[in-house]
Amino acid sequence: MDFLHPENWADALALRAERPDAKPIQGGTDVMVELNFDRGRPAALLDLNPCRELFEIEEADGRIRIGAGVPYVRIIRKLGNRLPALAQASRTVGSPQIRNRGTVGGNLGGASPAGDAHPALLAANAVVEVESAARGSRMIPIDDFYVWVKKNALEADELIRAVWLEPAPGPQYFSKVGTRNAMVIAVCSFAVALDPVTRTAGTGIGSAGPTPLRAREAQDLLAEHLPWDNPVPLGEKLLRDFGALVAEAAKPIDDVRGTADYRKHALSVMARRTLGWAWNDFTAERRAA
Ligand SMILES: Cc1cc2nc3c(=O)[nH]c(=O)nc-3n(C[C@H](O)[C@H](O)[C@H](O)COP(=O)(O)OP(=O)(O)OC[C@H]3O[C@@H](n4cnc5c(N)ncnc54)[C@H](O)[C@@H]3O)c2cc1C
Repeated sequence: MDFLHPENWADALALRAERPDAKPIQGGTDVMVELNFDRGRPAALLDLNPCRELFEIEEADGRIRIGAGVPYVRIIRKLGNRLPALAQASRTVGSPQIRNRGTVGGNLGGASPAGDAHPALLAANAVVEVESAARGSRMIPIDDFYVWVKKNALEADELIRAVWLEPAPGPQYFSKVGTRNAMVIAVCSFAVALDPVTRTAGTGIGSAGPTPLRAREAQDLLAEHLPWDNPVPLGEKLLRDFGALVAEAAKPIDDVRGTADYRKHALSVMARRTLGWAWNDFTAERRAA
């Protein structure tokens, strides 16, 4: 197996174009597992670690740009207040070792429906910046990024450069069910993001379909019924209807981690709870203001 070691990002893009059979590797927490279990043997590995550009967290046009090589531990440390759902999701990934190496870029690259970053990215309407040597960069809205099980919208000569998010305009929550508290793939997961400016709410469902999913009808329900001008606790009916619509949007299967029915039930509970927490935060902030 060839090991391609670019000097910088431009070099990496050139190598990507020359060697579409090369597998990019960032933290290696997915790639090395595949190699160790002999699940695939790419002709070459393209090491992205020398590309220092990928390790930056920047701000432009009021948005946060997280380089594809930024590990979870830095998202937790630097962005906990500004991107709460992504930071909460990052805290649940693997173990300290995995959070030190693993990246959101790698989660996007693998595009596993069980990846913990995806629900938070969907709920917050992230945009993925990808780049090729031949055509430069393009921005892919997160809804168009996940194509099928472990397939994303990247062309063969493209690499993920960064992910863009607006600093949270309102409360956000991520929740995950696993067979134990750490070091497990999610049985299912959910994120909600409230936007008091546009009076909308975003959602993201993980591990309950061929791709990460958005619960559109649940979002429509909130757009119509959240009492933004009268911030009182939410009624039980709205919470339950929201949970039911989130469960309906999921397309889970039965597998070793859980049944489809259990996943739908767990999603409805997580949806209700996370919305309740987010709304309580919003009303508390309103009262304090
Ligand atoms: C013990 C253990 C526990 C784990 N727990 C969790 C967990 O709780 N939640 C969770 O979501 N994940 C978990 N994972 C999986 C893994 O840590 C995450 O998916 C992580 O985000 C991968 O990031 P990475 O940088 O290590 O990716 P890598 O392994 O380097 O790459 C992953 C994929 O992305 C591609 N890729 C990487 N960078 C780019 C790029 N810039 N452009 C294009 N393609 C790219 C690679 O080719 C590969 O297909 C766990 C893994 C292990 C080993």
